[in-house]
Amino acid sequence: MDKNLTEEDRQIIRVANSKERYARQQDAKDYLKFSIYHQQERQNKNRLHSLFDGKVFRTDDPYIYAVYPPNCMGCNCVITTISERKFKNMNGVVLDVKEYLLSLLKSGDITIEEIKEMEKFDPRKY
Ligand SMILES: [Zn+2]
Repeated sequence: MDKNLTEEDRQIIRVANSKERYARQQDAKDYLKFSIYHQQERQNKNRLHSLFDGKVFRTDDPYIYAVYPPNCMGCNCVITTISERKFKNMNGVVLDVKEYLLSLLKSGDITIEEIKEMEKFDPRKY
């Protein structure tokens, strides 16, 4: 991104890109059924976003919006989608978003306030 942009400008661009990506992925959810979260923050890795890095969810998971990046100011994480065939080759585990968030709450890795904060960045509502 342009070095002259302010952090606020960058966030506006992130959010616009995210909204577009989310809409495109939802349009193709019947084909690209699996969504993988990739954490991008290089320095000062966000502790919360590390909990999602590499995790696989269903693209049509009704709660995917809750973890869809950006998940805070400055978040550069992305979700990419893949086909069922590619996913099978990965031998991965699919997580249910709601169940995963509940397990993180139970283990104390995340607080309800942190989940609410993430949900403020809802790609359906930008
Ligand atoms: Zn992030």
